[in-house]
Amino acid sequence: MTTPLDILIVDDRPENLLTLEHLLENPELNIVRAGSGQEALARLLDHDFALVLLDVQMPDMDGFETAELMRGNKRTRHIPIIFVTASHTEHQHIFRGYDSGAVDYLFKPLDPQMLYCKVRIFLEIHRQRQALQCKTRELDARIAELNLLQAELEEKNRQLQLLSSLDGLTGIPNRRQFDEMLSLEWSRMAREKTPLSLIILDVDHFKLFNDRYGHLAGDSCLRRVALALATMLRRPADMVARYGGEEFAAILPGTSLEGAQVVAESMRQTVTELAIEHLDSPVRGVLTVSLGVSSVIPIPGCIPADLIQAADQGLYQAKQEGRDRWVRADCVPLSCRSPWK
Ligand SMILES: [Mg+2]
Repeated sequence: MTTPLDILIVDDRPENLLTLEHLLENPELNIVRAGSGQEALARLLDHDFALVLLDVQMPDMDGFETAELMRGNKRTRHIPIIFVTASHTEHQHIFRGYDSGAVDYLFKPLDPQMLYCKVRIFLEIHRQRQALQCKTRELDARIAELNLLQAELEEKNRQLQLLSSLDGLTGIPNRRQFDEMLSLEWSRMAREKTPLSLIILDVDHFKLFNDRYGHLAGDSCLRRVALALATMLRRPADMVARYGGEEFAAILPGTSLEGAQVVAESMRQTVTELAIEHLDSPVRGVLTVSLGVSSVIPIPGCIPADLIQAADQGLYQAKQEGRDRWVRADCVPLSCRSPWK
């Protein structure tokens, strides 16, 4: 059983109200009576009417005036009205200023069948509107729920992205992130025609360290080196990543080869100053690193691998020369196709 709908019937004559009420009698309807336009407006304030049946000829305030005032109120503007009139000549005015479909008319004496049909149509429209509003509210709630879920999902994705771009052992960017950043900075430096420098460094005699102190100490050592290197880099675009087992790589966008050499020396000193005991190292009694430095202004035809290869070459040479040092290597991109050749 649905909730009864409120209907307002307005007429200045009590016998007309009684007739209307009798004709409309239905358990699905809650009929509210008003004997004047003023009373109708008062009832409209405390009910949510599905329909108003409004007598046109009334003293003081007639049906049109009442409807006009209803139209001026945001709360009552959309309530459908059926004007009840004795005169056929007035219905020309009835539709003036009203949305068609929200207004209809009936002539006195009332034809019960016509009354029933018209009222039924308006009530059906009202029920459909109510159902629609209910669905809209449900949809709004669902949308709000989905928005919340999406925000949670985005946050989880962000965390996942972060996790997948960080090295599990040291917490600094991993090789994947390094590759992405190098590629990004490569394009950016190419556009800005600015040097991009790269340092690759390797912990000296790390195998001997592990053999003597164990793998847990080895892990802890890598974490300390990573943290020291990451803390050392000050410029926002600079980044140091774990490149391989005991290898790290620093990307220095907008840094010249000279600048990169200064950074490389600082890195070497920073690690030495950690004073991590390494008694089996033929270099010193503490942990040291070897570094390769290179720099290039990316030009079309060159690829990031050229820069990596050059820095690797420097690292190789640094090891050859006795470790605990940096060596610069020119980036001579084999893949470069000079337009002048
Ligand atoms: Mg009347």
